[in-house]
Amino acid sequence: MKRKPLIAGNWKMNLLNSKVPAYFTALEEATRGIDRQKVDVLLAVPAPFLTTAREHAQRVQAIIATQTIHDKADGAFTGEISIPMLQDIGIRWTLIGHSERRQFYNESDSSVAAKTKSSLAFDIHPIVCVGETRGEREAGKMEEVLRRQMDAILDVVEGNSEFTIAYEPVWAIGTGLVASDAQAQEAHAFIRGVVRQKFGSLADRLRILYGGSVKSSNIQGLLAQADVDGALIGGASLDPAEFGKTVSLASSI
Ligand code: PEP
Repeated sequence: MKRKPLIAGNWKMNLLNSKVPAYFTALEEATRGIDRQKVDVLLAVPAPFLTTAREHAQRVQAIIATQTIHDKADGAFTGEISIPMLQDIGIRWTLIGHSERRQFYNESDSSVAAKTKSSLAFDIHPIVCVGETRGEREAGKMEEVLRRQMDAILDVVEGNSEFTIAYEPVWAIGTGLVASDAQAQEAHAFIRGVVRQKFGSLADRLRILYGGSVKSSNIQGLLAQADVDGALIGGASLDPAEFGKTVSLASSI
């Protein structure tokens, strides 16, 4: 049975707090009348907008998430944001280990695992990102990389943990290159298989999102794949009309 799709936007370091109300007005307009039993919506926004976004997101029943967390609850970590701080303002979801965090901020499999473990311990739902680089794919190492990244995550979760995986081939992020529907399905089926080997039926309820240049023109083909349960969308989530169109199409599959 198909899992309910989750369409997640990642604003990265874009937009402004003062633009947030208008964004949600336009998203409300673009998603009016759609069947919300058929799709979940999430936006991962910059930390300074979390409170504003959470207020306005109610209009479109969207979950608001942060883009990263620190694994420690408090302490001398200048510039970081802790999970209790997020909980205190009503945030319950986070991205973890996005490829830009791995690439620019040296996040490793072990720091991704530590963050995943802390978020689960504090009841924050993590969307943990995995994916191979172009070089790794071309060297025939996609499965090896995904297994290594997944093993680190699965070491810190339990059979009843609530989490989401985002498969984001690094070569498809922000490049306009989208994995073909078959390439996405192949990687998602592999990831689900790795989860099944360790946790059995957890694999059946786990949502695996695809990320990498997703937009309204390619969402339907991706969601038609048996193991693709939604999308993590960067660039195309900045335009509320386009993002809303993608949400609408996902609700009609
Ligand atoms: C992302 O930021 O997770 C992403 C997939 O970006 P884009 O959709 O722009 O490729």
